[in-house]
This record gives sequence, C-alpha cells and structure tokens, in this order.
Amino acid sequence: MAQQEAEAARRQIFELLMQAPAMIAFLRGPQHVYELANQLYMEHVGQRPILGQPIRTARPELAGLGIFEFLDQVYTTGQPFVGHEMALELDYPQTGQREKRYFNFVYQPTRDGEGIVDGILIHAVEVTAQVQRRLKIQENESRLQRLVNSNVIGVSFTHANGTIMEANERFLHMVGYTRADLAAGMLNWSRLTAPEYAARDREAVQEIRRDGAVSHPYEKEYTDKHGNRIPVLVGGAALNAARDEIVTFVIDIRPQKQLERDLRTAKGQLEAILQNAGDGITVHDIEGHMLYVNEVAAHMCGFPSAEAMLRASHEEYQQILKHFVITDENGHILKPEDFPGRRALREGHGIQQMLHYHDSLTEHSAWVYIKSQPIFNEDGQAQLVVNVLADVSEQQALEQRKNEFISMASHELKTPITSLKGFTSVLQRRMAKQGDTQAQHYLSRMDAQLNKLTRLISDLLDISRMQSGKLELRAELFDLDNLIEETVENVQAATTTHRLLIEGNTGARIFGDQERLAQVYINLLTNAIKYSPQADTVRVCLLRDDEAQQAIVGVQDFGIGIDKSHHERIFERFYQVTNAEEKTYPGLGIGLYISSEIVARHQGRMWVESSKGKGSTFYVALPLLTQEEHTKMLSP
Ligand code: ADP
Repeated sequence: MAQQEAEAARRQIFELLMQAPAMIAFLRGPQHVYELANQLYMEHVGQRPILGQPIRTARPELAGLGIFEFLDQVYTTGQPFVGHEMALELDYPQTGQREKRYFNFVYQPTRDGEGIVDGILIHAVEVTAQVQRRLKIQENESRLQRLVNSNVIGVSFTHANGTIMEANERFLHMVGYTRADLAAGMLNWSRLTAPEYAARDREAVQEIRRDGAVSHPYEKEYTDKHGNRIPVLVGGAALNAARDEIVTFVIDIRPQKQLERDLRTAKGQLEAILQNAGDGITVHDIEGHMLYVNEVAAHMCGFPSAEAMLRASHEEYQQILKHFVITDENGHILKPEDFPGRRALREGHGIQQMLHYHDSLTEHSAWVYIKSQPIFNEDGQAQLVVNVLADVSEQQALEQRKNEFISMASHELKTPITSLKGFTSVLQRRMAKQGDTQAQHYLSRMDAQLNKLTRLISDLLDISRMQSGKLELRAELFDLDNLIEETVENVQAATTTHRLLIEGNTGARIFGDQERLAQVYINLLTNAIKYSPQADTVRVCLLRDDEAQQAIVGVQDFGIGIDKSHHERIFERFYQVTNAEEKTYPGLGIGLYISSEIVARHQGRMWVESSKGKGSTFYVALPLLTQEEHTKMLSP
C-alpha cells in the first residue's frame, strides 16, 4: 500500500516535471546519460531520440561550447552550476536556422543514498525575448546618446513646464548660453522662444502629450543670450511614460535661410534683368508649357502682358497664333514643330534663326532673330528651352537698304567701267601702232586695275543677287579634273611668286555651273597665294570619296593660317580676320561668302582646316552623280 502511494506520488512528481514550464532533464552517471527530458526540453532538442544516450553522443552540436566541461565539473565537484543569460548559438532543428538564444539555468548535482553524486538535474528557462528587448533598449539609448554627443544637431531635454534640464554643446552654442548658465537654471523654453512662436510651441507640447511626438518638425525662432534671432527647425518627442519630459531636436537653419534670402535676391535681380532686357525671353518645357515670359516677349507674341501669356490656355494660344503668319528668310511658312525652340529640344543643341512675323489682325510685321538654347537635366536630356527673341526689323530694313545700295551702285559702276575698258583697249591699239611702249606699259597696268575693279563689282553684284535669291546657275555636265587643271593654269599664269601643284584626280563628272565653280577655285587659289607671302608653293589635292559619293578639292597653302575661332565665321559676308598682322592684306571679305553660297547651291560643302601660323587647307566637296542620275539628267 505504502509502496503504491509512494509510486503514485512519484508519478505525480514525474507528471509535474514533464509539464513544467521550464526545460528539465536528468543526466545519470559520469557520462551524463539522458534518463529523463520533459516536453519543453524535447521541443528544444527537436524531438530526437536522446534518452539512454550520453549527452556527448546525443547532442554533438554542443561540442566546443563548454557545456560538457561544466557538466563534468558539476559531476566531479558536486557543486551546482548556475548560468545567467547564457547565450547559445546553434543551428536549431526546429527552425533549421542558426540562432542565438539566451538561457537561465541550473546544473544541480543529485546524490545517491551515500551522498555520492550520481547525476545532474538540468533546469533551464529560455530568456531570449527578455534579453533581446533589453539589448534593443540599450542600443536605442546608446544611439540617442551618440546622437546627443555627436553635436550634429542641437538636443535638449526639457520638462513640459519649459525648464531645460540638459542640453548638448551644439544646443548651448546655438543659443549662446554656457553649461554654467544651464546648471544655474537660466535656460527655459519660453524664455528662449521668440514670443510669436509661443503658441506653436504650446501646440507642440499638446501634441507630444497626446501622441508621444511632434508629427512634423516646424520652423521657429530662438532669441539667443544676446537677443539675436536664430531661425531653427525643431522636432520633439516624449521621453517618459508620463510624457512630461521631452527631448527636443533642433537644427540651426541660418545657412538655409541665408540661402533662401540670397536666392530670392538673385531671382529678383534676374527677373529685373529679364524684364528690362530689350529682347523677348521665353522659357518652355518639352510639353510646350510656358514657364517664363517677359513683357517684351508677350507683346511680340500678341499678348497684352506676360501674365496674360503665362495664364493663357491652349485654346487662347491657338487663337492668337492663328493671326500670325510666320515665315523664314526664304518666305516659307514655318510649321509649329519647326519653331526654333521645338527644334532645339528635339535636336539637343542651340538653334538660331531669322523669322518674319506678320500679324494679320494689326498688319504689323517684324523680323525676329530667335536664339533657342536647350537646357539639359542631369541625365543629359533636353528638358527646357530658353528662347531669346530680338526684334531686328530696323536692322533688317537697314540691311535691305544697304543691299539695294550696293546693287544699285555696282550696276551704275558697271557701265562707266566697261567704257573705260573699251577706251583703254582703243588707246592700247593706237599706242601700239605709234610704237609708244611706255604708254602701252601704263595702259596695260591700267587695264589690270580695271580688271580688278570689274571683279570687285561683279562680286558685289553677286552678293546682292544672292541676297535676293536671284543668283542663276547654268548647270551642265562637266569633267571636274579638267576644270581644275584649266583654272590652276590660269591662276599660275598670273603669279610669279608661287608654284601651284596638282596632286591626284577625282575622275568625277559633275553637274553644275562650271563658271561659278571656277570662280570658287580661283578665289581659293588667290587667297592661298595672298595669305602665304613667305611661301612658294600651293598644293591642290583632288580626291574622290566613293563612300560619301563626293569629289573633294583641297587647296593647301603654307601661310599665316587661321585661328580656330574664325573657322566658321570667315564664310560670313564681309568677315575678315582682323588683327595687326592681317590688316596688311587687302580685300573685302566677300570671296569666301560667295564661294560657299555657290557650293551650297550645288548641294556641296565647304570647310577649312587650319591653325594660326600653320597654313590653311580649304576644301570643297561636291556630290557625285550616280549613273542613273546622269542618264536621267541627260535624257530630254
Ligand atoms: P578677302 O577678300 O578678305 O580675302 P575672303 O572672303 O576671301 O575675303 O576671306 C575672308 C577672310 O578669311 C580673309 O579676310 C582672311 O582673313 C581669311 N582667309 C581666307 N583665306 C585664307 C587663307 N588661305 N589663309 C589665311 N586666311 C585666310
């Protein structure tokens, strides 16, 4: 009976152990053989069969962690071992992952009837959650501490009543107080805050009371110890559960405020400049939205004011645009997608164009020179375009008058010069008959000068013809190499200073105006001679570029050369490279202009390669015609 009771009591204890909310196991003997393990323990082990096995075999994963050694020690010394928050980093079979878990445990030796140690009772409780929570708090605290100490931003610890209890150096520096002032209780939230911000502060405190933190940092101003206003950005949060201690983060925004002021000033200045500029200025984006216009531009575009233009709807724009007939220099009507601004955005580079605006409503006309420059974003894509519109009607009218004058004057000059030439040749014949060689000599000098004058006048006439689009070409099929040979021969005949050398051939037949093209090559050859007084050779290189389908003629001299900055401009009308050195060369700066126009009319291209002091090579490329194009051209 007694045995039965004892058995019942034992089972009860066993049950209790098995269900206990701690991990319990019993290890017997010096090999620590698992004799018992309760449910929690088995869960921890991962439900492996461990009973009846020594711990070293049953749980090889514990090797090297010192656990077996503790057990040995407990067994031999009979002293219990207590572990507090011991970390165990293991591959846990339950999750299959390596985890760090924390345990409080006791290794309690058990003894037999003789008091000799015969086993160890393990009692362990997992405390991972508690430890992790504590570590997190510690980490947060140390983070806060680091933030406070880093002095990147001002931090103060304030009571809800406004007393500042603690602050970092940055904060003290910002408000101009010392640590001693702080200790003396001189720092108070309401005293530091400029009066007009007191209400906002009270709101913030209420917010902290209600929600634990200020929802958005806000701008305010402090009054520092010396009475200066300091603009700051503040945010705050409750420090304790009662929410009457507040931590405040403060950023000095003086630099930003200064920047804002500078920006406003700069913007104002820019605005004043743009508004007072004589030219119209507009800025629009890729979708065509107007972002900026000044008054001049608005008036040019038919709006009463810049504001009205910026406010105008798409329909209003269309309505106003309808009155305008916009044409290019050749009188072709411009499609909206070909406006310089749109093209600049599409093509990604600056565009300059002369346009004629005619307002059919007011009958007002204007010549406008438009420069459109795209503005790129960081990825290099054109996003905005700035258009500068200069009303050049007056200059254009002047230009036209000048052209008309040149045209008229050269026409008027032509007749007297023709008769002068006629009389000269009559005189020459007469003097030859009389045998007066001296007079003959003077007359031939006179004739040469008259030829020069004739060339000049015909150049001027050409210019005005080009200007009015009246330069006529008499195109025919001809052999380019022949033309070059003849031209070089003619120029060579008139020069004693240079040898003109032809290299290569093009073998090209060109469809074009021989006389006009000869004029181009003569101009290049005479320039080459004129601008290389120290040299004695001019090279003429002929080549054929089958890939690009063109014949290229290069005229190379070894003279004064041309600085890169002038390369584009020398093809402009009346442009001459002027500095002390070049002043000595006579000329009007029209030869290259006429030449490039003639070449352009042949769908060709002209360019120069040169640098100062290194001589120049001028190139003329003319398109080659295909067999079919030849036949087509020749067939009636
Ligand atoms: P110009 O009558 O002044 O020679 P062009 O139109 O033929 O007029 O040439 C324009 C300018 O280009 C010249 O004034 C000169 O400054 C420069 N130029 C032309 N050809 C050469 C050259 N071969 N070497 C150096 N400069 C040249």
